[in-house]
Amino acid sequence: MTRAGFPAILVTHLPDVRYLSGFTGSSAAVAITRRSARLFTDGRYRTQAAEEVEAARVEIVSNSPAVSAVEWLAAEPSVLLAGFDPAQTTVAELMRWKRALPARLRRTFLAALPASLVEGLRTIKDEDELAVMTEAALIGCKLFDHIVTAIRPGIREIDVAAELEHQARLMGAEGMSFETIAASGARSALPHGRATDMPLPRRGFLTLDFGVILKGYCSDMTRTVFLGRPKAEERRAYGAVLEAQQAAVAAVGSGVSCGDVDEAARAVLRREGLAEAFSHSTGHGVGLEIHEPPRIGSGQTTRLQPGMVVTIEPGVYFEGRFGIRIEDMVAVTRTGGQVLTPAPKALIEL
Ligand code: ZN
Ligand code: ZN
Repeated sequence: MTRAGFPAILVTHLPDVRYLSGFTGSSAAVAITRRSARLFTDGRYRTQAAEEVEAARVEIVSNSPAVSAVEWLAAEPSVLLAGFDPAQTTVAELMRWKRALPARLRRTFLAALPASLVEGLRTIKDEDELAVMTEAALIGCKLFDHIVTAIRPGIREIDVAAELEHQARLMGAEGMSFETIAASGARSALPHGRATDMPLPRRGFLTLDFGVILKGYCSDMTRTVFLGRPKAEERRAYGAVLEAQQAAVAAVGSGVSCGDVDEAARAVLRREGLAEAFSHSTGHGVGLEIHEPPRIGSGQTTRLQPGMVVTIEPGVYFEGRFGIRIEDMVAVTRTGGQVLTPAPKALIEL
């Protein structure tokens, strides 16, 4: 806050609130000055907030927690300026906050932070966070091992997704990180093909992209399997994606730019004549949210640092025919990258 030139900040994005305070409820705002911090929430969370919140005083309010937080900050004589995260604030919210201020402060008191201060902290995971994320990723691997035994022609994509999600809960997941992707046959060419009532084909790829939430932290992995026997072209495309994925995993290391990691995958697919079919970036950060900074994309200059957790997920997509993606979660360490999702990646034929 000092470096950014702000004597106070208002935090309303719930993953940021959780990160800073431990509070997991669905309605809260945190106000932070150089001397103190206060979490505002409503009466539904009186007991929960008392149990979860450590580093801030809790105040139960009957109107909007964010408005209460703004009013509290404005009442602090030492605070003449408070920052908020413009990426997490709607125009309507900002208008509402301003209306709650005394007239003399309305124009100058609230200012957009140049960059989210909390998001930056969240990109570097500490040991406790890494332990939880490792466990979440391993649940994902166990789910994949299980689901492989259930896949057969004729069952629907939603049957696969339902079984995966049912088992996830039984294995301790709080929920799924995002809507499970199960895309078979020609639908595997849709990078984000949600599970439909389409029956699995006798012959063709099935892409499974899924993740679980454990203690608030998301896992994310993709495996593509084949039903029946692949043709030479399909086998070759799979081999190229696997090689690209492994090259990018090997490129992960402290100090390496995200653009260079992306290029490691892209170069392999370019060499194989598949550059055009790789239509998205190589990966993304993951943590309390499924998509966080840094972005592993072409030309990205952000440098990886120990404690970051990123996905590596190149893919190729041929409209109307087939698609393939392979995704791991990788933790950046001092000496390289540690794969958190060790499920098999050699092509599985079912
Ligand atoms: Zn994914
Ligand atoms: Zn992903």
